[in-house]
Amino acid sequence: MSKIYFDHSATTPVHPEVAEEMFRCVTGIFGNPSSIHSFGREAKKAVDAARSRVAESIGAKKEEIVFTSGGTESDHLAIKGAAYANRKKGNHIITTAVEHHAVLNTCKALEKEGFELTVLPVDGYGMVNPEDLEGVIKDSTILITVMHANNEVGTIQPISEIGEIARKKGILFHTDAVQSMGKIPVDVNELKVDLLSISGHKIYAPKGIGALYIKQGITWRPYNFGGGQERERRPGTENVPGIVALGKAAELAARNLAEESARLTVLRDKLIKGITERIDHVKLAGHPTQRLPNNVNFVFEYIDGGTMLLNLDMHGVAASSGSACSTGSVNPSHVLLAMGIPRTMAHGSLRLTLGMANKEKDVDEFIDIMPGIIEKLRSRVQPG
Ligand SMILES: *Cc1c(COP(=O)(O)O)cnc(C)c1O
Repeated sequence: MSKIYFDHSATTPVHPEVAEEMFRCVTGIFGNPSSIHSFGREAKKAVDAARSRVAESIGAKKEEIVFTSGGTESDHLAIKGAAYANRKKGNHIITTAVEHHAVLNTCKALEKEGFELTVLPVDGYGMVNPEDLEGVIKDSTILITVMHANNEVGTIQPISEIGEIARKKGILFHTDAVQSMGKIPVDVNELKVDLLSISGHKIYAPKGIGALYIKQGITWRPYNFGGGQERERRPGTENVPGIVALGKAAELAARNLAEESARLTVLRDKLIKGITERIDHVKLAGHPTQRLPNNVNFVFEYIDGGTMLLNLDMHGVAASSGSACSTGSVNPSHVLLAMGIPRTMAHGSLRLTLGMANKEKDVDEFIDIMPGIIEKLRSRVQPG
């Protein structure tokens, strides 16, 4: 039995070239980047080079990149930093119902602290309407946070349109680009964002490293204090090997973007066609075209997602149902519910996310084994 990894949106394997640079750093560069001596200078040089690579990959200046411990921390740093810094100006924050919990729960925590929160609904494809967004802006609005691409259904939001609105009204705009990075173009100028989050382990670097883009000159402030690292925006001795890995991964993401996204789009569309042709009572969740090239999300009727995942695992297929964090919980995905998918159907969701580890034969194999699994599961829950 061959193993098939269809869960690249949960995490990715480390790219061999990333691993190699990271290994060279772990074994060869141990200085503290803040030290004056040659060991420190060597480490600082490695961090600086990585910062330039990350900046370049998203069209930013290198001073605008802050390294963090991952996507979650980047989201926190962006949202809380913007909210606290602008409190005198207003207290209203706008987000959407389909955000990652790193964003949603940060916004909800701020609501408990006295900020006012508007959670925008989405349409049946998981898409935010920029006109709806413009309609809820008030004089007190200080921050808009809308993800670039959804981690569960792959829907790509109209970020530059929203950025245009935010800019016109003088409101800070953050986007979580953790899932879009490396799959569609991510350029801070084209997207018209002030803050943008990325994470290493979604782009073939290890877990525990990420970055936040903070546009020069915006009103934002840190909320952690310590040494002066990262220009006092994120104190603590730098995760040098992680930073080096992220730098390499960002460079590869930008370099391989066109070729890899074209390759994955073909595989994605073959999966969608193969499954919907061979299985009844299944629907594609998310947008048919405004969708990440590596994302497939099916909703199967009369199926329990958890049981389906276990059966797939027995066949060597790694996939997910809803988001990785909510797997095992009885609540169906907040994203599918926000899209108006009924609770009973949302339980039958299956997310397949493709990546570097996949070849066409994985897709063919999956299309062959899936009908049998669905038939078996449905014959159990639906006697007669
Ligand atoms: C994975 C993910 C995060 C969290 O990133 P971590 O590095 O795991 O903390 C945030 N947002 C989105 C959209 C994600 O997919």
